[in-house]
Amino acid sequence: TTSGPGPGTATDTHCPYCALQCGMRLRPGAGPEPVEVLERPGFPVNRGALCGKGRTAAAVLRPGVRLTEPLVRDSRDAPLRPASWDEALDRVAAGLMAVRRRYGNDAVGVFGGGGLTNEKAYLLGKFARVALRTPNIDYNGRFCMSSAAAAHRRAFGIDRGLPFPLADVAGTDCVILVGANPAETMPPALRYFRELRENGGRLIVVDPRRTRTADQADLHLQPLPGTDLALALGLLHLLIADGRADKDFIARRTTGFAQARAAAMAHWPGRVERITGVPVTQLAAAAAMFGEAPRGMVLTARGPEQQSKGTDTVSAWINLCLAAGKAGRPGSGYGCLTGQGNGQGGREHGQKADQLPGYRSITDPAARRHVAAVWGIDPDDLPGPGRSAYELLDSLGGDGGDGSGGGIGGNNSDGRVRALLLMGSNPAVSAPRAAHVTERLRALDLLAVGDVVLSETARLADVVLPVTQWAEETGTTTNLEGRVILRRKAVDAPEGVRSDLAVLHGLAARLGVPEGFPEDPEEVFEELRRASAGGQADYAGISYGRIRAEDGVFWPCPAPDHPGTPRLFLDRFATPDGRARFAAVTHRPAAEEPDGPDGDYPLFLTTGRVVGQYQSGAQTRRVDELNRSAPGPFVEVHPVLARRLGVAEGELLAVSSRRGRAVAPARVTDTIRPDTVFMPFHWGGKGRANSLTNPALDPVSRMPEFKVCAVRVEKAEAS
Ligand code: SF4
Repeated sequence: TTSGPGPGTATDTHCPYCALQCGMRLRPGAGPEPVEVLERPGFPVNRGALCGKGRTAAAVLRPGVRLTEPLVRDSRDAPLRPASWDEALDRVAAGLMAVRRRYGNDAVGVFGGGGLTNEKAYLLGKFARVALRTPNIDYNGRFCMSSAAAAHRRAFGIDRGLPFPLADVAGTDCVILVGANPAETMPPALRYFRELRENGGRLIVVDPRRTRTADQADLHLQPLPGTDLALALGLLHLLIADGRADKDFIARRTTGFAQARAAAMAHWPGRVERITGVPVTQLAAAAAMFGEAPRGMVLTARGPEQQSKGTDTVSAWINLCLAAGKAGRPGSGYGCLTGQGNGQGGREHGQKADQLPGYRSITDPAARRHVAAVWGIDPDDLPGPGRSAYELLDSLGGDGGDGSGGGIGGNNSDGRVRALLLMGSNPAVSAPRAAHVTERLRALDLLAVGDVVLSETARLADVVLPVTQWAEETGTTTNLEGRVILRRKAVDAPEGVRSDLAVLHGLAARLGVPEGFPEDPEEVFEELRRASAGGQADYAGISYGRIRAEDGVFWPCPAPDHPGTPRLFLDRFATPDGRARFAAVTHRPAAEEPDGPDGDYPLFLTTGRVVGQYQSGAQTRRVDELNRSAPGPFVEVHPVLARRLGVAEGELLAVSSRRGRAVAPARVTDTIRPDTVFMPFHWGGKGRANSLTNPALDPVSRMPEFKVCAVRVEKAEAS
């Protein structure tokens, strides 16, 4: 890697955490941190504002916090010990080769992350398919927004989280925010919703909890978890029944309205009230508010997406936008507020099981020919689609390294993945049914983890590879708007740390593929441009130089003289006939619902985030200031439920589902429904919310149902 800027020089870069990718400046630190975080008012998305996570991000750069040397384990029961890079990489390569030789290429797998830069995501996908020749690569973004991606492509022919800059929110007339809580997940974004209301626009929030975001809404609809689809159908029913559908737009720019209309008309308001718990009067008020607004937007996040019917649920909200004529026009449209830092770019460059770079389908012969030509391989040697993230994790298992790990042994007739390279993800905390996933990780013949810190998953590994992060390296990410930006190196990585690209380079060489895995991020990006050219996410016209000069470029950008595309669909949608497609979707229950007041699991559990922590907490739980504001897990319960349980604020609750148990203090609040409890998912250990969650998968996106399952809640004894 090149060395960082000289002493005293400030570097313009971006936050390492969420999909807003706030602009910030880094200056060599005068205090305990290697760099100091400063505001960068010129970046248009956050205009200088940072949340607590961004302000404190430099704490994770400290040598005492981050990993600085490779670690290996001599046997399954031995502790991790320091090792040289050669020993660590030799161990990984030898383990991967041994499994491939004995069980075939499909018995090795790769698991990536939505926080990896575009260059890392691209090279990881290439590494799986070219160096390992396995189809089995997927990433934690599958857990994040894959249902919105699938619904977006179904309706519009292309998936870009927001088809317009986030700032457009401030200038529209009505926004329906569904299952999204930017006040906690991306606070600087909230300014656009405030400006919307200051400009006379209206904000409707749909959420089973009265969140800090919902507190700022003109109207808060509080449905039962897992019923957003029915709610959207009910609003579409009322829009049509009240004569507010935009017949001209529907006729000119869409297909499939008749079938979608029939599905909506079967969801009359009284029926929707019974399913969702939202009173008809509130449904009517929301339908009128949205229908009467000249321009409008629907924005979804994980609430409707992380369901076993997530794709259909998002489609139902898109149907509402289309029927109201609020898409493909300035100031109107549907968008998804992506969560992870490179949630958008991470899904465009080939670390997803069914995709190749440029957002190409891995089953499309023309796409395979194009990418194979860039990679210098025969298209017939390119593996096909692999398993989705949970299915991949569920299929893990070997002999447990030394035959003692409870693995399966013998041949691989049941298609187990026995060796896994995992980068930038912490599924031992973030995957659904996490205790089972942890067992599967333990049973592997080889688990190699590349990470910045010793996460819960890295602690299970046979080999831990300490990799560069954020301010220690240069690379691009693509924020929730499709804006491709450049994170710039501001500080040298500690000695003993290598970039993920160098890890892949070193492993590929050991696997007998010495060419095609450069360590230099710009060289990787140049290849990514060629691989993406002509695809949906076309980066061919974007270069590091251009991003520096313009502070970000929106894809698609097919040529160096193309201006980029901040707003999609203004003339046509990206479908073959240029029309947006309605989807005929109907309500169905969650995969698991409470079994009644006297049942074993009588309550809903829903999960989510708090402002002081980020995702699995691997980084943010190492930051003192954040731990003071968000010190640990909790169970949010309504006062009525708390009384019934005989529990007071701060007393311990045990939450049990059919998959496991978690224990955490009660937080008593009337902001949640009495029939529902909420837990944040940032922690492992006893308070791990994902011990409880249900891996039931959406049939289209393969998204697990994190947002809805059935639980029992009891007072627990302090231990
Ligand atoms: Fe970082 Fe997101 Fe906070 Fe911005 S909102 S500072 S990108 S965590």
